[in-house]
Amino acid sequence: MSEKPLIIAIDGFSSCGKSTLARMLARTLGYTYIDSGAMYRAITLFALRKNLITNGTPDKEAILKELAGITISFGYDQENEHNITRLNGENVEEEIRRPEVSAYVSPVSAIREIREAMVLFQRKLGENGGIVMDGRDIGTVVFPHANLKIFMTADPEIRAQRRYLELSLKGIAVSMDDIRNNIAQRDYMDQNREISPLRKAPDAIILDNSNLNIQEQLDWVLEKMKTIHQENDH
Ligand code: C5P
Repeated sequence: MSEKPLIIAIDGFSSCGKSTLARMLARTLGYTYIDSGAMYRAITLFALRKNLITNGTPDKEAILKELAGITISFGYDQENEHNITRLNGENVEEEIRRPEVSAYVSPVSAIREIREAMVLFQRKLGENGGIVMDGRDIGTVVFPHANLKIFMTADPEIRAQRRYLELSLKGIAVSMDDIRNNIAQRDYMDQNREISPLRKAPDAIILDNSNLNIQEQLDWVLEKMKTIHQENDH
């Protein structure tokens, strides 16, 4: 069986556990994991720090003027075994997960020019295959020819509970209501924006992980991959 390095695209709603699955899958396969949401989060953090978001509205022109000076890169923290997102060289992994960033990332990510720049970057990272990338438009726009496309979904209340647990473990105080609202708002904005709205690609396979643990999800994907490798062989 040939094992050509594949491109795996994982899209879906907010707080579905896309990154947990993508990370584990990449580790199991020896692939690179790229969290495309972290890119939009890093730009949002940059805009917040520069006061380029007023009353919830990003100052598009001002952010675009700064865009060429923003460098996003990824690394790995060996000691704590987690991925790192860097904004102009600074480790912002913790900060980009904070509720302030979550609150404004959807309007920032709806800006066409920002998306175009990020899509180019994402394609470059995946040009040699052997990549698992998660986001909202990976299977539809970034890699329309991805070898495997997964569209993840889960019950909204279960997603809110997972996000609550994740933030609580990091010591970030936030109410369940705020989390529910943020998830609903982001889902709405991500699905209804003009450019690259969140959609299931016609050839994506739906994974509803409401009642699946991570191992079960991983097994599910590895099973799908076997079929793809077998098909590639013929
Ligand atoms: O995946 P995560 O929840 O961290 O993504 C944060 C936000 O970034 C999403 O709510 C969405 O607005 C935006 N995003 C996007 N396209 C992607 C990944 C994320 O628009 N490929």
